[in-house]
Amino acid sequence: MVNRLYVVMVMLICGMIPLVGCRQSSTPTPTSKSDKLQIMVSIPPQKYFVERIGNGYVTVNVMVPPGAEPHTFEPKPEQLKALSRAKAYMRIRIDFEEAWIDKIKAANPKMLIVDTTQGIKRLPMPSSYQEVGERLHAGEGENLDPHIWLSPQLVKAQAHTIYAGLVKLDAKHQRAYQANLERFIADINELDADIRKNLQDVKNRKFIVFHPGWGYFARDYGLEMIPIEVGGQEPSAAELATLITKAKKQNIKVVFAEPQFSKQAAQTIAKEIGGEMLLIDPLSPDWLNNLRQVSHAFARVLSQGGAFSLWAIAILKLTLQTT
Ligand SMILES: [Zn+2]
Repeated sequence: MVNRLYVVMVMLICGMIPLVGCRQSSTPTPTSKSDKLQIMVSIPPQKYFVERIGNGYVTVNVMVPPGAEPHTFEPKPEQLKALSRAKAYMRIRIDFEEAWIDKIKAANPKMLIVDTTQGIKRLPMPSSYQEVGERLHAGEGENLDPHIWLSPQLVKAQAHTIYAGLVKLDAKHQRAYQANLERFIADINELDADIRKNLQDVKNRKFIVFHPGWGYFARDYGLEMIPIEVGGQEPSAAELATLITKAKKQNIKVVFAEPQFSKQAAQTIAKEIGGEMLLIDPLSPDWLNNLRQVSHAFARVLSQGGAFSLWAIAILKLTLQTT
């Protein structure tokens, strides 16, 4: 019930927020479909980034389709064949891509490989067990946290790299790409300010989530992520029990889970602590709006006021909009 109410409220709010983040650019007349640059990316949020910057001049295809899990994904032979039409592959160094990159390159040796992680210092993959020394870090450079698309600050760096890649392929439209980049950066800055505002008064800054994809997000906004998954696996019964005790002690009432991953452990914890489970999507293709919604979910869950404060925001927004 609470869950359903929440979804309705999110929809209400999102419908009411003017779509400032989705302004379409006034780029010159786009070229016809056949002239468009074919760009391949690994995950859906990257499609959003490349389309924002290449608006009108690119066709973007994604390796990992919506709903699939990008850590263990295996490209189909047709997908590798389709790479022959791509002018560039925008890398993000997520697990499947690291495993397949040689085959990806071999499928089209002429394709420009753009590493969008360049200039970004990735951190070791977070685990709630590292801090207590029950499990050791994997060696440096081995198990680095790939979820750099969930930090608006790091997405700015990725946007600049994508821009440079597009200009390299298509210098003729450099001015359009630059204008699109500037608009995108402005939207990211606005999103970042919104998230800070949404989360500034939140008292309890700890949250539990199944898959530890939100480490950079937590770092940027002063939150603490407690992941359920351990080294990519479901936790053992003992690990689950430890988490339940921790959650009770910290007075955590909501457990996040992601649609691409198992919900069983999150459900178990939620039940044991007398709380609820909420889904947050780390791979939504509607990146900007999704992160804004996620920050609303965090604000609601982490603040004591709970659902009532969100209703208050919804009603306030409705009032502002209609007056
Ligand atoms: Zn992940």
